[in-house]
Amino acid sequence: MEAKEFIEDLRRRFPNEPEYLQAVEEVVTSIEDVYNEYPAFERYNLLERLCIPDRIYSFRVSWVDDGGRVRNNMGYRIQHNNAIGPYKGGIRFHASVNQSILKFLAFEQTFKNSLTTLAMGGAKGGSDFSPRGKSDMEIMRFCQAFIAELWRQIGPDTDVPAGDIGVGGREVGYMYGYYKKMAREFTGTFTGKGLEFGGSLIRPEATGYGNCYFLLNMLETRGIDIAGKRVAISGSGNVATYTAQKLMSLGAKVVSMSDSGGSIIAPDGLTHEQMEFIFDLKNLYRGRISEVHDRYPEIAYLPGERPWRHVVCDIAMPSATQNELDGDDARALLAAGCIAVSEGANMPSTPEAVKEFIAAKILYAPGKAANAGGVATSGLEMAQNSQKLSWTAEEVDDRLQAIMKEIHRQCVLYGRQDDGYVNYVRGANVAGFMKVARAMMAQGIL
Ligand code: NDP
Repeated sequence: MEAKEFIEDLRRRFPNEPEYLQAVEEVVTSIEDVYNEYPAFERYNLLERLCIPDRIYSFRVSWVDDGGRVRNNMGYRIQHNNAIGPYKGGIRFHASVNQSILKFLAFEQTFKNSLTTLAMGGAKGGSDFSPRGKSDMEIMRFCQAFIAELWRQIGPDTDVPAGDIGVGGREVGYMYGYYKKMAREFTGTFTGKGLEFGGSLIRPEATGYGNCYFLLNMLETRGIDIAGKRVAISGSGNVATYTAQKLMSLGAKVVSMSDSGGSIIAPDGLTHEQMEFIFDLKNLYRGRISEVHDRYPEIAYLPGERPWRHVVCDIAMPSATQNELDGDDARALLAAGCIAVSEGANMPSTPEAVKEFIAAKILYAPGKAANAGGVATSGLEMAQNSQKLSWTAEEVDDRLQAIMKEIHRQCVLYGRQDDGYVNYVRGANVAGFMKVARAMMAQGIL
């Protein structure tokens, strides 16, 4: 297999899917040599079967807003690969959602889920519906209309959705409720559920906490202590806020956060009081990050800006969305002395930015490894649901830490170069790929 030719062919077949092509290109170029060591893979055309989703559902979602107007959105579910377990991946509600973005996310999810050591295949879904500014009743009606289309295609051993951008506990609750009504069953078909109906302790925290645990593992390889380090974070949603909370408990300083409107910059680090304010603002009141500056004028607010060129930091943890950190941002971070980047979001760094980080030989963890704690804990939620048991927070957190350590170990195993530098991109891609590839080979051509 020639990676270049392979990508060219996909480019010709899917010309309007830049995010999907970007994600595939990164993986295929980094596994090319390993893939070619096994001629049987090519005989079975394994790579093409792994890159093209098993199936895609797309549908219209019609719902009625509070003013009585009928609104229409697109809904999707991409079932990418179930070689190692039921399809599993989040649902994203955001105005920017399209088939390309969901295909890239489902593709990445397949490798990420393989790395977690748990039995989960890859999927992703969502809609171009934006929850921002919608009432609770509108959100509920939309979620019900979405699931009215999708419920037949999902199930506890078939496809288990969860949250993502714009989908948190409230949305999962509404979708699960409607699923339960249609399917007439009470099973673990969604993860990220409320604690009263099968949710797991630590699931809301898991992606952010897991990213911090992965970062600690990386820092340990160079004997670096997290205490006192300045960390720039982007985003202020689920992943960003729990990342910030854990970092502060470890003695690090959080010097930035953001949303799609702009960034706040706190060169000396946010205080615990300020962090609590942000947590409530975003999680309880669904406010904007600019309101932090209104309340604490000493914290700068930069409208329309991402944090990267405006902070001095030791570590960056992009936790908002894809392609939010470009080549110029990467160069600015490196010039300011950044020694580590650990991605909470999926594919937040552009290919040019990734090249810069790797060329500078800093610690750089791609999202599919660093943010895998979220889906791993979803896997633990599925295990608890199957057993009809609930584990304690300590038990779940201990398992999360152990899983992040194991993901780190796999990345080091497959990613260490001759000069000792660990290329975590290659490590994560090769480790994730080998397990899925072996399972696909064993199961025949499907
Ligand atoms: P949330 O919806 O809770 O938060 C998303 C944050 O990112 C918000 O601050 C949002 O700002 C900002 N954001 C979203 N889109 C854009 C954009 N186009 N430009 C700038 N800012 C943007 O989502 P999560 O925290 O759950 O997800 C964040 C990232 O982490 C995503 O890439 C997701 O795929 C990834 N992830 C999430 C997991 C989870 O368990 N939740 C698991 C693994 C990965 P605003 O409010 O203004 O839109």
